[in-house]
Amino acid sequence: MQEEKLRLEDLLESSQSSNVDDDRINNVAIIGAGIMGQGIAQTVAGMGLEVILVEIDADKLESAKAQLTETIDREIKRWAMTKSDKKAIFSRIKWETDPNAVKDCEIIIEAVQEDFDLKVSIFKQLDKIANAEAIFISNTSTLSLTKISESISRSSKVIGMHFLNPVPKIPMVELVKSLHTSNETVLKVKEFASRIGKTPVEVYEYPGFITTRAIVPLINEAMHMLLEGIATAKDIDTALKLGYNFQYGPLEMADAMGLDEVLTWMETLYKTLGEPRYRPNPMIRKLVRERKLGKKTGEGIFKYDEHGNKIN
Ligand code: NAD
Repeated sequence: MQEEKLRLEDLLESSQSSNVDDDRINNVAIIGAGIMGQGIAQTVAGMGLEVILVEIDADKLESAKAQLTETIDREIKRWAMTKSDKKAIFSRIKWETDPNAVKDCEIIIEAVQEDFDLKVSIFKQLDKIANAEAIFISNTSTLSLTKISESISRSSKVIGMHFLNPVPKIPMVELVKSLHTSNETVLKVKEFASRIGKTPVEVYEYPGFITTRAIVPLINEAMHMLLEGIATAKDIDTALKLGYNFQYGPLEMADAMGLDEVLTWMETLYKTLGEPRYRPNPMIRKLVRERKLGKKTGEGIFKYDEHGNKIN
């Protein structure tokens, strides 16, 4: 009896203490250090796990490093983070351009652009490099995990983890099961989600899952209202923010997401679900054509200074 009690205490202690000498996920790779890749890296490293962040070339890698530094510095200025948080996060992120660096990782999260062929080519490449047990995660917002997973041999170990922007501040993640995802993969990824401070919501694969499918028509409608001259962009956002107690208005949200990404989601949802509410409005097409992609390029619906603060 006494022995059993001691064993239980040992177990409890080990589950609360060190995060390196247990059999849970400890090494995570992220492919793509754009808006989402940086946010996921900050979150995962912030929870004490080691991260390898892979970009396509050295220039992109350097600019991602500079952007993440600026994001965290802004949080430090707001007293939301400390300098030692920043130091701890950066000490756990390894910045890489060589995909072979991910070979020992237990979880690999792809966060490259919403392009089916690109995602498949990356998974095919990683399938040859990664440990056979490694779980492959996609952050896709609209694409079919079943189709992506069928391109590689480890289909049962492929799952979607749909993080939302800004990742460190959103306490939820959608876990998207494909037709081939095994229960074991779901369980492991659920544990990983909780470990990095996110409440997992399970969803079967369907275009747009829950969150993208719901937010895209709202953004589209807000843009239509702006096009029809009903109100200014600022007032549309203020009405929805204060009226419904939203943290962000749909227009500033679209700018933060990246208008190119939002347009791709609209196009995919319109093509797959056929509903007119997803048909991209002409304004988003024009802004994307002009490379006014929102916060990341300094202009979208609103304008931004070099620190990403809204200036109109
Ligand atoms: P992004 O364009 O900001 O970043 C993508 C990054 O991937 C770029 O820096 C690019 O250089 C890099 N990349 C491309 N090919 C690569 C390769 N072979 N190896 C390494 N890096 C490579 O895109 P994002 O907004 O971060 O979106 C990424 C994914 O997350 C998309 O699937 C998107 O649908 C999804 N998503 C985005 C948001 C959002 O709000 N932006 C929210 C949820 C999900």
